Amino acid sequence: MNKVPFFRSAVDESDIERVSSVLRTNFLTTGQVTAEFESKLADYTDTGFAVGTMSCTSAMHLCLIAMGVGPGDEVITTPMSFVATANVVSHVGARPVFADVDSETGNLIPELVEAVVTERTKAIIPVHLYGQMCDMEAICQIAGKYNLHVIEDAAHGLEARRNEYGLGSHSNAACLSFYATKNITSGEGGAVVTNDESLADRLRTLRLHGMSADAADRYTGLYRHYDVVNAGWKANMNNIQAALAIGQLERIAQLHRLRINAYNFYDEAFAKVKGIALMRRIDNVRHAAHLFTIRVDPDVRDAFLHGLQERGIGVAVNFRPIHLMSHYKSSYGCFEGQYPNAEAIGSSTISLPLFPGVTIDEQQQVIDAVADIAAELG
Ligand SMILES: *Cc1c(COP(=O)(O)O)cnc(C)c1O
Repeated sequence: MNKVPFFRSAVDESDIERVSSVLRTNFLTTGQVTAEFESKLADYTDTGFAVGTMSCTSAMHLCLIAMGVGPGDEVITTPMSFVATANVVSHVGARPVFADVDSETGNLIPELVEAVVTERTKAIIPVHLYGQMCDMEAICQIAGKYNLHVIEDAAHGLEARRNEYGLGSHSNAACLSFYATKNITSGEGGAVVTNDESLADRLRTLRLHGMSADAADRYTGLYRHYDVVNAGWKANMNNIQAALAIGQLERIAQLHRLRINAYNFYDEAFAKVKGIALMRRIDNVRHAAHLFTIRVDPDVRDAFLHGLQERGIGVAVNFRPIHLMSHYKSSYGCFEGQYPNAEAIGSSTISLPLFPGVTIDEQQQVIDAVADIAAELG
């Protein structure tokens, strides 16, 4: 058992009560509670529409399908992400094309994105790494120039803003994750937020077998027949998931403040520890503070990880770059040295415990353990 776990969920008794009350209603699939969550999510992100899905992966997958991206097409994305970001491109038969990231923030560099645009490029998927929003104005300007779709992978960025804008304000859509350790969770779950009503309509059909009416439409009034307008998927968010997430969404300002406070506490403490580098905070960005990472000498990174675990500190690595995974090397010809900035982050990064309930005492234990190991290995 870790002294300081990597993650402790912020689910509370009121969330459990809300889930229990849905379990007593007998309507467990997509219905009223899902619609309520979607409406609150659209309000929170200040977008016109939210469509709940099974995961961020399915949200991004369905966006690509809804935008008509398929075999023969290319989609530009970042190697510094969870593999889902590139896998969804493979799922539709398109080719993931990577561009290197900023070595200090881990976010895509717009000029490097533009440099890999070809005749076949159909979309760009930027990732707001660790919770800092990419330069969406610059990325979407490039997209406008070459007539490309932009899907934000906002799995880390629910609370993120940049300058005066938020998710989905420049792009076609932003995809969220409510996976167990994300900033709010429904166990598993995701959503697309967008200002494009016709895209939202297509996504609602695609998430449920291409059916023109969901169960709530069919059973809550007089029975209505449905049509099937495409061979859609099975990726709908259900009422149980939505019930779990609603309360966290209502408390999001408070949960986010706790995360930011904890993030700032680490940032200040680690600035004084020799041998530890930190990610650069971007000006005028509201950090979603999803992950707090330190950078250490790649030669001692794994020893560092194990040293922290031996001292009872939960750790993770976010991320080893996607282009170095076997599948991407063998299927797309990716190779070591191709994206040096992403590789430098991937070989030096360690994620530390960051969650709304982390205490100052727990954070101090983490800081002391890191300083201890840095001195030992330094
Ligand atoms: C977690 C994560 C995903 C996948 O989210 P799921 O809801 O598990 O599908 C995608 N992209 C990034 C950057 C993530 O961290």
